[in-house]
Amino acid sequence: MASSTVENYAKEIFLSSQRTGDKVVPMGTVSEALGVSPGTATAMAKKLESDGLAVYKPRAGVSLTDKGRDLAVQMVRRHRLVEYFLFEILKMDWSEIHEEAESLEHAISDRLLARLDTFLGHPSSDPHGDPIPSADGSFSTPKVIPLGECTDGQSVLISRITDQDSAFLHYVSQNELRPGSEIKVIRHDKAGQSVEVQLGSGATKTLGGPAADKILVCVQP
Ligand SMILES: [Zn+2]
Repeated sequence: MASSTVENYAKEIFLSSQRTGDKVVPMGTVSEALGVSPGTATAMAKKLESDGLAVYKPRAGVSLTDKGRDLAVQMVRRHRLVEYFLFEILKMDWSEIHEEAESLEHAISDRLLARLDTFLGHPSSDPHGDPIPSADGSFSTPKVIPLGECTDGQSVLISRITDQDSAFLHYVSQNELRPGSEIKVIRHDKAGQSVEVQLGSGATKTLGGPAADKILVCVQP
């Protein structure tokens, strides 16, 4: 069985590669995402390679083998199902669930995970709007764009929040900007780098450019 550290590396390499669409992930990205030194990240990449989970190429980076990808997808599945459970059933605060899931994802057994999935009714996305892989490892990724790239007058459905930082999640939660919320883009202020939106309640809100880039939306027909 893989250690928690190996599981975290596999998961992080997988998520980084999903973000960029590039199979090979530079070591700088890995060390930054995991908050470790480049030397530590490289040592772990070699460990993953000796376990048959990854291929490490000096200067280029690290990529997952099929076996490594399977492990990573299972970790993502565990993480997101746990988040769903903590939020929907235990009613924990939306901004707290990511950190709790980071430790629980390593602890629960496959049997408990299967029971949890059945109990929850096989949800397809977590409370942040990220897809939950099914038991066979397949998952859908809806076509989404950053809120900042929408055109004025567009109605959009908030699909995902890319920043898992709890302060930002709290902000999003407090401002009716959670995944599943429908909003309308009123106008962009190019010079001020901000976007004004109308929330479901009818209230309007102005978001700064960096915040708008972290909110991914599906454009409504
Ligand atoms: Zn999370």
